[in-house]
Amino acid sequence: MDLRIRDVTKTYSNGVEALRGVSLSISPGLYGLLGPNGAGKSSLMRTLATLQLPDTGSIHLGDIDVVAEPDRLRRTLGYLPQEFGVYPKASAIDLLDHFAVLKGVGGRAARKEVVETLLRQTNLWDVRKQKLGGFSGGMRQRFGVAVALLGSPKLMIVDEPTAGLDPGERVRFLNLLSELGETSVVFLSTHIVEDVSELCTRMAIIDRGQILLETDPTSAIDGLSGKIWRRVVSKSDLPALEQSHPVVSTKLLGGRTVAHVYADTRPGPDFEASAPDLEDVYFCTMAGHIGNGVREEAGVAP
Ligand code: ADP
Repeated sequence: MDLRIRDVTKTYSNGVEALRGVSLSISPGLYGLLGPNGAGKSSLMRTLATLQLPDTGSIHLGDIDVVAEPDRLRRTLGYLPQEFGVYPKASAIDLLDHFAVLKGVGGRAARKEVVETLLRQTNLWDVRKQKLGGFSGGMRQRFGVAVALLGSPKLMIVDEPTAGLDPGERVRFLNLLSELGETSVVFLSTHIVEDVSELCTRMAIIDRGQILLETDPTSAIDGLSGKIWRRVVSKSDLPALEQSHPVVSTKLLGGRTVAHVYADTRPGPDFEASAPDLEDVYFCTMAGHIGNGVREEAGVAP
């Protein structure tokens, strides 16, 4: 079952054009939507989760018209928002059972089985009787996944999930999403490049409401082969380098500034070739050196 998004636009009442002609085709698997803060990621996620309507455009999941038939979509949707409240005094197993009742998972025995399976799948079985108020960020996120998975969704929307997770929790959480991707469309938004590079089979980069690049991480990285050059510069020399060369990123490494430059040939003797990674793909896209999306200046809303 594919998710097809066509020419979706959304302008808020304050005039902000949050989505400007977004089109994406997403197959089962883990799909990453990468972009800086304010790019429009949550706006797209909320629209897909039927929490707000697009102004124009269409969204289909298989034969479900998401805009016209939100109830049909909701029956097969799992949504994990950035922030969600839990009842701190409830235990994981009791609250999950409660949500299962609300979701209409019928029959006491069947419900018990579903709840227990989800607690094991999200690695919360051993802490199922603990109060949610004492859970770590990662445990809370995994509980959120368990809730979102009630009813076996075909579409799972996950909005900026890894902020605030420690590295171990983050890896466990992303592995869990990747498992889900084996059977469902899992659409993950993030501003963290590594979230995408580690697990996503397809990805898009969004900025100012527009899709600038849709690709798979491996071929995007291959496409930059031989075009990224690095040079160590002093902080005071950086402005001059930025004037003379297309610097795509700078990074502090052991107290020194390492600049990455985009160029077809070696820009000068002080530069050495650098094996590109997804961070280079991201910065080169943001800088306009690569991309397959339409790029327009922000318009003025009526
Ligand atoms: P992201 O999730 O990528 O950080 P958002 O979708 O939250 O981006 O925001 C995109 C743009 O829309 C931003 O400029 C933001 O300030 C604006 N925005 C988001 N939600 C609303 C809203 N409800 N009303 C008005 N403007 C909004």
